[in-house]
Amino acid sequence: MEQLDYLWNYQELDLKMDELNDQKKNSPLRKELYRSIRYLKNQQKNIEKLNNDIDKKNHVYNRILHDFVSISNSLKQEEEVLNSGDINSFKQLDQIEKKILEAEEKLTEKKRELTVLMQDMNSLNKKLQVITTRLQKGKKVYEKNKEDYDLAVKELDNQYKELKAKRDRYKVELNNALLKKYESIKNSHATVMAEIDQDRCGGCNMALASLVIQNVKDNARVIECENCGRILYSRKGEPDS
Ligand SMILES: [Zn+2]
Repeated sequence: MEQLDYLWNYQELDLKMDELNDQKKNSPLRKELYRSIRYLKNQQKNIEKLNNDIDKKNHVYNRILHDFVSISNSLKQEEEVLNSGDINSFKQLDQIEKKILEAEEKLTEKKRELTVLMQDMNSLNKKLQVITTRLQKGKKVYEKNKEDYDLAVKELDNQYKELKAKRDRYKVELNNALLKKYESIKNSHATVMAEIDQDRCGGCNMALASLVIQNVKDNARVIECENCGRILYSRKGEPDS
């Protein structure tokens, strides 16, 4: 076998390996897996936001409670004065009664605020429960997807390893300069070698000069297509066209 024949076989296996990599990248299972990861992240974000909201409501709760206690205390003080019998004038009595009335009104307002707050917190907690359930279900879906994906990847990896082993058997036959050339063309073209097809480059379809074609057939040296830079190749045993 000539160097270019080895390289041709090498390329065939190399392309199959590329195909497997594409399959891995574009696998529906991989898309499904990423979808379930996105879903989980969204639910986690929602939970984080809800927990923040609940925290804020807790601060409001503490503030209302603090107000409630201080109003209750001043109410108690006024009532003590009222019950002490130390009141000397109607004016003083009026003032105390006015303060008691005000304090009672404030307490009613605080109770109302508290009722509204409790409703808000209940609805936040319910939302949190719903999303927590979603998260748990999402995790199960993710685990199943992950299992399926890992299994498929393992299968593809095994095929890849087999192909690579076969490809590398040709690799050892190739000289380093040719292999380097191959790798360098591979950076810009998926297929490095192009077969001559009806006097044209099989890679870019450019018409080739008959001298170029003859040189390729003679297999004297490595010839690249002037237009696309691929290594031109002509299979042995094929009749001249
Ligand atoms: Zn070409």
